[in-house]
Amino acid sequence: MGLDRTSFLVATGGAAVGLTVTGAAAAPESRPRTPKQALDRLMAGNGRFVRGKLTSVKAIVERRRDVAGGQKPYAILLTCADSRVPPEHVFDKGLGEIFVCRVAGNILEAQIIGSIEYSVTHFDSLLVMVLGHQRCGAVNDTIKLVEADKKAPGHIQSIVDAIAPVVRANPRNGLPDAAYVDKIVKANARAVTKSLLQRSAILRSAVSAKKLNVVAAEYSLDSGKVQLLH
Ligand SMILES: [Zn+2]
Repeated sequence: MGLDRTSFLVATGGAAVGLTVTGAAAAPESRPRTPKQALDRLMAGNGRFVRGKLTSVKAIVERRRDVAGGQKPYAILLTCADSRVPPEHVFDKGLGEIFVCRVAGNILEAQIIGSIEYSVTHFDSLLVMVLGHQRCGAVNDTIKLVEADKKAPGHIQSIVDAIAPVVRANPRNGLPDAAYVDKIVKANARAVTKSLLQRSAILRSAVSAKKLNVVAAEYSLDSGKVQLLH
């Protein structure tokens, strides 16, 4: 009994200190209840990132205690491994809020689909966002290799193999490099979104039940903005 009482006091004290230190701006908001609310929450965070008004990093230590016992992330991000596109910063999200899968070119493979299904089935995540980004190196290299009919060394080719069909389906038609890379980045994010739904009965079922939405988006390295692709 003595130990329990002590633990209770410590836990209560910790929570009180957390509230005092983080302040109103960084206090955890209630969890979104619909796919639309989840998307709005992401885009609001991106707005803070663009304006340089990040709040999540301030509360990271307090949040670590809050979520140590369990997670219930409301959104899933599939993003490129590019070091300039960290989703937690881009969307101003703290620990426990977003379930992140990262791979060069934000492509699909069985383990990525399984990870997304895991978050949907175990945590009732409400949104999947496939986020491509401006000047993606994986897309740029795939274009160069496809156009030169060459292969990448080692396992890098497996990434090229995933993006090449999108390049072949969207010919350059005289576009300059930057515009063509951007066109393929958008087309790849849309294709991955479509393929994800085609390959996952779990996701299709959640979307039919209006418990989940799957969207494609592009991140601008220049502005920091995330733009939804329709
Ligand atoms: Zn990239």
